[in-house]
Amino acid sequence: MTLVEEAQKVAREFDYPASELQRAIERFGEQMRDGLQRSGSTLSQIPTFVTAVPNGTEKGLYMAVDLGGTNFRVCSIQLHGNSTFSLTQSKVAIPRELMVAKTSKELFSFLAKQIEAFLKQHHEEHYEGHIRRRKTMSKGEGFKEEEIFNLGFTFSFPVQQNGINRGTLLRWTKGFDIADTVGKDVCALLQEEIDALHLPVRVAALVNDTVGTLMARSYTSPGKTGTLLGAIFGTGTNGAYVEKLSKIRKLTELNDVASYDTSTGEMIINTEWGSFDNEQAVLPTTPYDAGLDADSVNPGIQMFEKRVSGMFLGEILRRAVLSLVRNPSVPLFSDENSSLNDVHSTTNIADSSGLWRTWGLDTSFLSIAHGDESAGLRITRQALDKEYGITAASEEDAEAVKAIASAVGRRAARLSAVAIGAVVLNSEKLRESETEPVDVGVDGSLVEFYPGFEEYIREALREVPEIGEKGEKRIRIGIAKDGSGVGAALIALVAGKVNPPTEND
Ligand code: ADP
Ligand code: MG
Repeated sequence: MTLVEEAQKVAREFDYPASELQRAIERFGEQMRDGLQRSGSTLSQIPTFVTAVPNGTEKGLYMAVDLGGTNFRVCSIQLHGNSTFSLTQSKVAIPRELMVAKTSKELFSFLAKQIEAFLKQHHEEHYEGHIRRRKTMSKGEGFKEEEIFNLGFTFSFPVQQNGINRGTLLRWTKGFDIADTVGKDVCALLQEEIDALHLPVRVAALVNDTVGTLMARSYTSPGKTGTLLGAIFGTGTNGAYVEKLSKIRKLTELNDVASYDTSTGEMIINTEWGSFDNEQAVLPTTPYDAGLDADSVNPGIQMFEKRVSGMFLGEILRRAVLSLVRNPSVPLFSDENSSLNDVHSTTNIADSSGLWRTWGLDTSFLSIAHGDESAGLRITRQALDKEYGITAASEEDAEAVKAIASAVGRRAARLSAVAIGAVVLNSEKLRESETEPVDVGVDGSLVEFYPGFEEYIREALREVPEIGEKGEKRIRIGIAKDGSGVGAALIALVAGKVNPPTEND
């Protein structure tokens, strides 16, 4: 076999045929339903207490903050009421020492100070007016409701949400470690520090990024149709969708819940689908997937995410390519001038190359190789040289790597179609109408930048008998730009309507 044929053989290990896809869709549906009945299920199916999606006519000025792993973003969003918005934002890196501070207060007072600085810089009139009034009043209770900014708080750590603006931290992740925050309500912690600075801001909603994506897309999507699903394909993967209240059986078991609006008969559910089929009854598994999982910090967990999202695809490709490099009968990246037997010295791969290191290959490389149409695959060879210390890669080398990269990316997209297809079928929207589009909002670098990711999803959706060509055409997929800011603002708006502030606010 030639080098390229050997590579194609590895690429075929990532084939994911229609019959398996169909089986996975059925199981996904079962796990969705199970998660609505009880806690402790494979798909967490977390109720978000958001009970309506926007239709584009929403208006007003809102604030949003986003505490991700690395940065803290503060923004204000003016919703114009015609599906468009203006957004002003600032971003600061979170100081390392605050991520591991002794007390929550140190981190949250820092966050409140960023909100204060943002208000002073971008909404000075509003801010000054508020401060002036406070100074001229004997008591601090006199300002009017319309002077207060409702703020949506996007918080990307595991929380147990028990109300639209209430949620306790389960555990820190991503390098954060502040012991006394665990078990506390993060909205209350932020509100305390905002109040200490006398800012005219009310934390109105706690927001998950998938819910933000769903809301943002629903506001900006064309026409009156509300969006069904918001999905993230970035570092991780997850989705939030609109479910019928009557199907969320476990809602009645949750005690200590805030009241929520039941008039729409619906609620947005955060699926946490990264853990779909952790039992591995239907997920495809190559030796490269198994190796990645074994060497991960959480073996056996997030098994769907480990085959789909940006954090992992590069590592899957690295392991697959390495299997060829280590095969003595396959001349990938081989140095023809060497007579030594040691793998390292018979290849053109530098000792420092990321190819030798776990997590050493970034998923953005998949996009480069898969999308490479240059003569002699010059672009891929350049990236191998510049970013991965692989000198003098031949055209055949690049072709081999491209074949495997494309296979890993295509399987990820087909698995993404499992999640999207299952949510669409669960909604019965394809049966309820013949013409209405079924709207899906997506976000994340993988779906945004991997060439043809959406087309691969569509190809897979067409192969599902219950969807078919007719159904696939009705599924409308659009990127939700600035999803976290706009989405959080929209949830703050909805929260303000359902949960009007009390006199003490
Ligand atoms: P986040 O998930 O933190 O919101 P992103 O949506 O930007 O951020 O996703 C980051 C992930 O996307 C990383 O795992 C990165 O490897 C991957 N990524 C970045 N650029 C690309 C690209 N051009 N093609 C495919 N994946 C990419
Ligand atoms: Mg994101």
